[in-house]
Amino acid sequence: SLRSRASFKLLELIKAQPQLIRKGGKVLDLGAAPGGWTQVAVAAVSRDGVENLMKGGRFVGPNGDTESMHVEGEPVGLFDEDIDEGESVEEVKFANHVDNGGRVVAVDLLPMDPIPGAQIVMGDMTEASTQESVIQLCGGKVDVVLSDMAHSFTGTRSADVIRVMDLCKTAFSVAERVLKVNGNFVCKFIRGEDDGELKDMLQQRFRIVNFDKPMASRRESAEAYLICLEYTGAQKASED
Ligand code: SAM
Repeated sequence: SLRSRASFKLLELIKAQPQLIRKGGKVLDLGAAPGGWTQVAVAAVSRDGVENLMKGGRFVGPNGDTESMHVEGEPVGLFDEDIDEGESVEEVKFANHVDNGGRVVAVDLLPMDPIPGAQIVMGDMTEASTQESVIQLCGGKVDVVLSDMAHSFTGTRSADVIRVMDLCKTAFSVAERVLKVNGNFVCKFIRGEDDGELKDMLQQRFRIVNFDKPMASRRESAEAYLICLEYTGAQKASED
């Protein structure tokens, strides 16, 4: 079954941008515990893709409602108020066997239970040594870098905004080292005064940069995602 409500956020992002994660692709998933995005990423790179997860009937909420998250424009209280973490989902069938070249590397500070089809690393992505071993484990460039990294909130909004922004910058600097040209990058951030600066930075490296707040994300939360498509490559120092 799906491990966290967070799965639905990534499913929604994929639904809005079907080209985000391709079958047979390589994905680096940062801030992955307990593994909701990792499970979706494994499905997305597998032969079957996420179609099984997207279909109504696979996800059954407490009132038997299977459709709500898929209805465009309708506010969905379903995942925010009605379902507690951990009790959310039943009987989602995963394509566990990634035998088409697809690959998922998942990293977190916290330990994670194994997910078939994913390689799990425990470590702090702000540390150079973790970055090195993760990049090595990827075994070459990847198609997608996902970051849902967030710390426990301090309660001081300005401090939280800055800390999440720092994690975005960490994720972006890793992406700059490991992303294929035309690869994609997704990053959680919190709306704040610095939005523009981050977006400017990303727009210099990706052809398309969008903000998205999935409906599965708590409405009252300020969290949102930056969806960056078609990496243009890090700036070259000089051609000659
Ligand atoms: N995407 C996950 C899922 O679908 O289950 C939920 C991720 S949760 C919102 C944020 C995660 O970021 C936490 O598990 C936290 O441990 C991790 N994190 C925060 N700072 C990190 C860092 N410096 N390096 C690695 N992981 C980090």
